[in-house]
Amino acid sequence: MSESLKDNNTKTVKAQKLVGVKGMNDILPPDSARWEWLEAQVRGLMARYAYRNVRLPIVEPTALFVRGLGEVTDIVEKEMYSFEDRLNGEQLTLRPEGTAGLVRSVVEHNLLYEGGKRLYYMGPMFRHERPQRGRYRQFHQVGAEVLGFGGAEVDAELILLANDLWKVLGLKDVRLELNSLGQPAERQAHRAALIAHLEQHSDVLDEEAKRRLHSNPLRILDTKNPAMQSVVEAAPRLLDFLGEASLAHFNAVKAILDANGVAYSINPRLVRGMDYYNLTVFEFITTRLGSQGTICGGGRYDYLIEQVGGKPAPAVGWALGVERVLELIKEQGEALPDLAPDVYAIIPETAALPVAMQVLQTLRACGVSAQMHAGAGGAGGEGMGSMKSQFKKADASGARFALVFGADELAQGQVSVKSLRDGEGVQRSESLSRVAEWAHSLQSSL
Ligand code: ATP
Ligand code: MG
Repeated sequence: MSESLKDNNTKTVKAQKLVGVKGMNDILPPDSARWEWLEAQVRGLMARYAYRNVRLPIVEPTALFVRGLGEVTDIVEKEMYSFEDRLNGEQLTLRPEGTAGLVRSVVEHNLLYEGGKRLYYMGPMFRHERPQRGRYRQFHQVGAEVLGFGGAEVDAELILLANDLWKVLGLKDVRLELNSLGQPAERQAHRAALIAHLEQHSDVLDEEAKRRLHSNPLRILDTKNPAMQSVVEAAPRLLDFLGEASLAHFNAVKAILDANGVAYSINPRLVRGMDYYNLTVFEFITTRLGSQGTICGGGRYDYLIEQVGGKPAPAVGWALGVERVLELIKEQGEALPDLAPDVYAIIPETAALPVAMQVLQTLRACGVSAQMHAGAGGAGGEGMGSMKSQFKKADASGARFALVFGADELAQGQVSVKSLRDGEGVQRSESLSRVAEWAHSLQSSL
């Protein structure tokens, strides 16, 4: 400590460069433009479906996830960022998903008192996983959840909503897989048959499967281990254990999807990672992102609200992985949104700055995007740089027009407007006192 202090004081040693946490990414321009565009599309579509936005804490009590997600799940067993609050000893966790926190909030604020709710959220989630393409430690989800309604029509509505989002975002090659997990009693009957089947093939089960055989055998069906695929494929199907009511619910969802031309395939082994699901479960999958191909998953969770201490109420929802969706858009070769300003202001002398900045303010108030040339500053009075270098910067910015605040024009109450893209060099003069009148001619036609 004292050693490094001394180093600092004598200014002989450069401070060590700090880097971000592994698996947690900076989202920078120009990529951030694609994020903003996606978020705007989400907001627009959610409004058209009358879903309302919620913004929830990133930190929740650890017990919420242990109780809500289930103890024998990938997330709770090995992926949570949990810590103890130094000041009061509370056990806290960075949220690994959004549903549990949303349900906690709905119960805490008694939101279902006046009827069901359609809600959505977007934001960062945290899971301690091995970072790779499409899998990060801080990643982002958009989630849509409908609480307080038990009918198949809201399951279908949520699927239609997600499907519309893929259309709005221009995603290709996304397919929908559907399954029903039935009700707890049906799962109990299936579970016994499943354990018996898996025990008969215990020689091919891996360590994780053996561990889960009696605690969470359904999750074994979700294994990615190739050696276990044939055993898992031959396992008794939960769908065959469903009673009349569960089948009717499933068929009603399918009928609405059929009527709306949404294609799907039934995957009897689709189980999803969290314990809280029942009846409908679904995933949207693409083949273009390798093994991280699931871009969105969800289903019904009629027992979660009660599990976290609320008055029993049905619910259903989904969450999509923003990074995976954006990666798919990139994979499809879509161009980034255009970030170029309408105007780049060229300022030959610093004396022109007050007037120039006043003009730019008026332009911005009129909706024109304007980037001002900035000089090196500093005590030496380096000024704004040569005209040549300023024009270079203007070209690099992609602006359609350069405004040149030259001393001669300013003296006549004018500024010259130069086209940078088409008809290179076309130039005209505009009045400094009537900026609002010509401002709109600079705006891109987007
Ligand atoms: P996977 O099987 O790929 O681990 P999951 O079942 O754990 O996914 P969910 O909990 O259902 O995923 O989360 C919904 C969506 O969030 C996923 O379909 C995926 O698009 C995204 N997602 C989940 N974990 C990550 C992660 N670590 N990094 C990036 N995206 C993720
Ligand atoms: Mg996972």
